[in-house]
Amino acid sequence: MAARIIFATGNENKMKEIREILSGCGAPVLSMKEAGLSADVVEDGQTFEENARIKAGEIAKLAPQDIILADDSGLEIDYLNKEPGIYSARYLGEDTSYEVKNQALLYRLAGVEKKRRTARFVCAIAAAVPGQGIVTTRGTVEGYIGFQPAGENGFGYDPIFYVDEYGCSTAQLAMEQKNAFSHRGNALRAMKKELDKRGVFEK
Ligand code: IMP
Repeated sequence: MAARIIFATGNENKMKEIREILSGCGAPVLSMKEAGLSADVVEDGQTFEENARIKAGEIAKLAPQDIILADDSGLEIDYLNKEPGIYSARYLGEDTSYEVKNQALLYRLAGVEKKRRTARFVCAIAAAVPGQGIVTTRGTVEGYIGFQPAGENGFGYDPIFYVDEYGCSTAQLAMEQKNAFSHRGNALRAMKKELDKRGVFEK
């Protein structure tokens, strides 16, 4: 079994979610910082999977004996030909506030009826497994772009992303509620199964 699982992120909320989902796997789950690693990886792939793969592959070069997990995620709006997609973080510029990004997207959807406002959050996870190459999984959550921003929780596009089941935006849900069906949670749960299948967690 690999010594450690390292998740390529500096985001503590993601670490919390991944620790919860991978708990009981028998290997310590560490952030890059905890593992003493740092890397500046250029994500120049054309899909979420490619970007996650690039990240995991680059970091695996620094720690070839460990399992490296990396993710890439974003928002796809069908009416906008799946924009902002892989450019979600960079949409209108990396330093532009989400208040502005969200307002801009709402403006681009002005006058569009609800049934044509469908959207999804997508998350691809890649795992570089020593001696076994890189495996990827994808998780999604379906919803629609609301007519105005709502809610204070979450981050990014959460205030404008609504889910029918709850009748509110994902920024109006508690973190635990959102994580239970989130794109990242779904991709992570699928990854846990893939790693299980490969015997990665066998002691
Ligand atoms: P990354 O995968 O952390 O680089 O995230 C890419 C971008 O997608 C984020 O900066 C957000 O703009 C957006 N995004 C990804 N997941 C979520 C989510 O759960 N809520 C809101 N925005 C998200």
